[in-house]
Amino acid sequence: MDPPLFPPSHNGSSEWSPSSWKNVVAKQMPIYDDQEELEKAVKTLDRVAPLVFAGEVRSLHEKLARVAEGQGIVLMGGDCAESFKEFHVNHIRDTFRVILQMALVMTYGSSMPVVKIGRIAGQFAKPRSDPNEVVGGVSLPSYRGDIVNGEEFTSEARRNDPQRMVEAYYQSAQTLNILRAFSTGGYADISRLHAWNLDFVEGTEEGSRYRLLASKVDESLRFMKAIGVDTSKPEFTSVDFYTSHECLLLHYEQALTRQDSITGKWYDCSAHMLWVGERTRNLDGAHLEFTRGLCNPLGVKVSDKCSPEQLIQIIDKMNPHNIPGKLSIIVRMGAEKLRKHLPGMISAVQRERKTVVWISDPVHGNTRKTKSGYKTRDFDKIREELNAFFDVHDQMGSHPGGVHVEMTGEDVTECTGGVSDVTEDTLKHRYNTTCDPRLNGSQALELAFIIAERMRL
Ligand code: PEP
Ligand code: MN
Repeated sequence: MDPPLFPPSHNGSSEWSPSSWKNVVAKQMPIYDDQEELEKAVKTLDRVAPLVFAGEVRSLHEKLARVAEGQGIVLMGGDCAESFKEFHVNHIRDTFRVILQMALVMTYGSSMPVVKIGRIAGQFAKPRSDPNEVVGGVSLPSYRGDIVNGEEFTSEARRNDPQRMVEAYYQSAQTLNILRAFSTGGYADISRLHAWNLDFVEGTEEGSRYRLLASKVDESLRFMKAIGVDTSKPEFTSVDFYTSHECLLLHYEQALTRQDSITGKWYDCSAHMLWVGERTRNLDGAHLEFTRGLCNPLGVKVSDKCSPEQLIQIIDKMNPHNIPGKLSIIVRMGAEKLRKHLPGMISAVQRERKTVVWISDPVHGNTRKTKSGYKTRDFDKIREELNAFFDVHDQMGSHPGGVHVEMTGEDVTECTGGVSDVTEDTLKHRYNTTCDPRLNGSQALELAFIIAERMRL
């Protein structure tokens, strides 16, 4: 297959520059009270090394272009928000391991390559529905993620501190270093897949289904070896793993946006892929202005609030040359609304001959608060939304391109249901998230089996 064409850089356009977003209104951006402090942090970031490189970004783009043609599926997953406090090599290892396990299940089920993308190494900034949080009659600015302010409910912690961007950068650099080592240093070797089993899937139904599948893969490997295939080649021992996060904090993103020395095009080197959230995707806003000039693959989150006409306008802005793999539409609206609204969106895209990757985010439209005050998500609702996504694509003859989930490799109790059987009463046991509730390792694996079953040829 011919490699996809890449767009002419916006570099030549007088309108776009890495700072042209400053001429338009930016929603959800923190206000810093000390401009000198902000300039100092930005200056530091202007000079740091890129976290990802243009060649890697192009390789992800090529893979996504294949997904856009129906030849593959995307798996995006990770924490809702990374935190400074939770940073640990084991935490990264566990998330990475579950993503690889999910990918294996999905590959086996669909017989298609799975493009693996972490919500990681930069997923720090959070949009907030309310700029303030009121507790016991005291109102303080909302927590906007560790890259902006602190979670603790004190006015000191909630102050927007630009130096946190520098700290987030260094944590992301360490995270990427770990991920690169895990991806290529033997940890991801397919023949070690039994060793990937997490203790807590032992004894669960998903755990035994996973082991059964793993033994089938083992059998296939033994067969390949017997007929002379060299299973020590990189295809068997390493994986391509990419990073992504919400493109929200534009001071940080601008500072990491660099011109590729080979092509002269602009890449945001904070992550391979960036997406714009549901709350900042307005056509006249700074987030679309900033992202339209980037050569990275992009995503945009859409709920039922986005009309088919608006969706087409967003696509025209983010992918004006209609390049396959450049833009993913990440749909998040709950099962019922999805059955009602997604068909209209797909027909508009088909009518206008746009090429996009459709990704389901089945978690963000299904968040609720329990009586005891925990933000949670029910596994059944997540499954319903995912099934609705597949049903609609079947109906419309379009390709269900993948899934985007908030998950962790750890045995947390943040979402209810699934075989791991977390209930409203047990949420308190290991509710560790600093933001939205995540699927735990076994719930994430269970989801992968659902996808695998739906994608079976
Ligand atoms: C998110 O992905 O964490 C997020 C905030 O999503 P959305 O923009 O869809 O609300
Ligand atoms: Mn979230």
